[in-house]
Amino acid sequence: MTATLAGRLVLAVFAHPDDESLACGGTLARLADAGAEVVVMSASHGERGGQSGPVRDDALGRRRSVELQQAARVLGVSRLFVWDHPDGDLRWAGVPEFHADLVLFMRRHRPACVITFGDDGLYWHLDHVGVHERTTAAVRSLGDEAPPLYYTTMARGMMPEFVQTAKRRGWTPPQKGFWSLMPEVFGIGAEPPTITIDVADWVVRKLTALQCHHSQMGDDAHPLAHVDDVDARRLLGVEYFHRADIPTTGAPVLETL
Ligand SMILES: [Zn+2]
Repeated sequence: MTATLAGRLVLAVFAHPDDESLACGGTLARLADAGAEVVVMSASHGERGGQSGPVRDDALGRRRSVELQQAARVLGVSRLFVWDHPDGDLRWAGVPEFHADLVLFMRRHRPACVITFGDDGLYWHLDHVGVHERTTAAVRSLGDEAPPLYYTTMARGMMPEFVQTAKRRGWTPPQKGFWSLMPEVFGIGAEPPTITIDVADWVVRKLTALQCHHSQMGDDAHPLAHVDDVDARRLLGVEYFHRADIPTTGAPVLETL
């Protein structure tokens, strides 16, 4: 496994800083440890911070980019791109530009595989769905040269169990922000995964990377601080994927981990 990935490039495309750690931080760290050159692209700076409406806060965008740099270091990411596509409008704005960014990068660097959101966008986040659509279209446009494309997904019930465990350990969910989301929505619309990656040995790095995203996870009010390493390995130690139905001559990557 290590020999086949050494020096190979893996491209992970997400919408906002923090998606990479939440969706598949364990797998990215495991790929990096296996010798892959992991490249993370965030379509936006996350300058709206999950708030709906027209508010654009560029100071928040800059802060989130720095948080992403810190998380990327923890995960062993080699290169990071933070595009300036508009947070909150990724499904509709700048579609040809984003498509061109992706196609040019893939033509130039020929990744061994690409990872992005599934069509449920983890929890129907429309920016995530937009990134799924752009990345799928860009990979498909490469025809015979398309690399294998993998969609991240979450097993139903994983987030509720994680949140329940944190509550039992004394955590109180905040009224606003990421952790005010209903945990049941994660993975609710996802296709069943066909690939499971054991990331138990990478969970501590995944949690550390998630905690780099202070502006989203909250400084004190996040459940991660209430879940110990044993719980984390049990609750977050597997990541789930399925493979896009796009013909490719590229060798499988995640299936070989
Ligand atoms: Zn996101």
